[in-house]
Amino acid sequence: MTHTDTNTLFGHPRGLVILFLTEMWERFSYYGMRGLLILYLTQHFLFSDERSTVLYGAYTALVYVMTIIGGVLADRYLGSRKAVTFGAILLVLGHLGMAFEGSGSRQIMSFNGAEYQLTLDGRGGDANQIVIALDQPGQPSSRISFNDGGSAMLVAEPAALGLPAAINVSEYTLRTETQSLYLNILYLSLALIITGVGFLKANISTMVGDLYGFGDTRRDSGFTIFYMGINLGSFLASIFCGYLGIVYGWKYGFGLAGIGMLAGLVIFLRYQSWLEGRGEPPDPLKLREKVLGPLTVENLCYLTGLGIIAVSMLLVMNAHLVHQGYVGMLGVIILVVLLGYTFMALHGVERNRMLAALYFILAQIPFWALFEQGGSSLNLFTDRLVDRSLFGFSVPAPVFQSLNAAFIVIFAPLLAWCWVILARRGLNPSTPVKFALGVFMAGLGFLALVGGMKVSGAAGMTAVYFIFLIYWIHTIGELMLSPVGLSAVTKLAPARAVGMTMGAWFLYSGLSNYLAGIIAAGTGADTIGGQLTDTAAAKATYIEVYTNVGYVAMSIALVMLLVSPVIKRLMQDAD
Ligand code: GLN
Repeated sequence: MTHTDTNTLFGHPRGLVILFLTEMWERFSYYGMRGLLILYLTQHFLFSDERSTVLYGAYTALVYVMTIIGGVLADRYLGSRKAVTFGAILLVLGHLGMAFEGSGSRQIMSFNGAEYQLTLDGRGGDANQIVIALDQPGQPSSRISFNDGGSAMLVAEPAALGLPAAINVSEYTLRTETQSLYLNILYLSLALIITGVGFLKANISTMVGDLYGFGDTRRDSGFTIFYMGINLGSFLASIFCGYLGIVYGWKYGFGLAGIGMLAGLVIFLRYQSWLEGRGEPPDPLKLREKVLGPLTVENLCYLTGLGIIAVSMLLVMNAHLVHQGYVGMLGVIILVVLLGYTFMALHGVERNRMLAALYFILAQIPFWALFEQGGSSLNLFTDRLVDRSLFGFSVPAPVFQSLNAAFIVIFAPLLAWCWVILARRGLNPSTPVKFALGVFMAGLGFLALVGGMKVSGAAGMTAVYFIFLIYWIHTIGELMLSPVGLSAVTKLAPARAVGMTMGAWFLYSGLSNYLAGIIAAGTGADTIGGQLTDTAAAKATYIEVYTNVGYVAMSIALVMLLVSPVIKRLMQDAD
């Protein structure tokens, strides 16, 4: 295939550089925030584990679900370039908004008619629980811990506080005071991020596709380079935002994420000309049409964005009230619509291929539901129950989020090379077999971690190597499923419905994040001030939930392996 563009860099259209850098910074901000969020909710706002994991699940679900609206608005009216710009502006505001933290929630203990504050002397798993005597000059404090079984609070130096050395849980009451202004800023910021990603994520990927003409053989490697950008951003953010957020203060971690996104926006605006007219509105005149007084179609698109912000904020605020059944129902309704389209509008080869695409869209659910524990329950587990010392240095839990991205950058080329070698011998697994393997890996990763947890006894800290191991196994699974799935969707969906099908891929990826939140809530432990009160009980719960999800995923993978020849036939040589 010959290509006619004059402005290329390393053989690729130079627009790829802009999209690579913009998406790298967007993912930098997203993953920087994602690594800190669950710890921020449990330790700063003092939400229970259940409430935090459900909120986290709903939020990370909405982030992907809203891409379908951003995608449709760009296809019909805005064009990708304007949609990405609008999304990037909302993201800068959202991430910077996260940096307004206030002084956090306070947990007040009443005991024997006096009030004390239970708090942490820092952030992350290395912080100590302390009790502060309120309304006393100089406010003396003492370290506290909980006895095994969590039935009594132990005070290290009780004399200064006038407290006994051990207080039964039944002898005191706790209440939490929250600064509602800062809580609302958090919800608004999350809603801005949901809407920003909704306008940006699918559309920037479409623009990568736009850089290459039909049949251009550079397309696949262009996407591989783009995927590296995603993971480079994620890698750097997990280290820098994770470290700053835990060691210096939440606002510095979130603030850096915001500055990263600002860099992305500036690059995207400054070098738009490199896109050479790609991603422009399909009908610029229509965009300027007046619909309501001075309001144009373009204004209405942005107003829709404001509507999404409002709806997302309400949903995130009330995530713990949203009945799980409604989310499941949404998934079923959309599936019925997609099946209806497939059987009514498509025939023959097109219909069979679309059915295969729908199979892959659904088959990703068990994978992400387990994989996405990474940011929530696994992150909390790493924080609380893993010996995080490496080379004499205690590594903050969110920094371990960088492992996934680092493994992707290292193993993506190796795995690609593996497929080529296997293909030469006619042994390259088909796409449905790779999917089954991906889901199997998600389960296997958890069973490997559980093995490591059991070695260290009932309440012992788990060795950090098992965190490396689970992320490595999960990353190999991700490489068998995520990029393979994106490519399969673009090949299997008819050209006129590829946008919708891609939207559906992300939507179900989002619903899997919600399911992940429910699983994570199942691991929820009893905490005070975000710290465990009963280590052994918490560890037993993690072991039970992780073993169960591990076996369930592996059983699903087995069924997927059995049906894979049928799916391969439905693909009709598109593999
Ligand atoms: N890790 C990829 C990204 O951030 C895929 C995410 C997903 O599909 N859930 O783009």
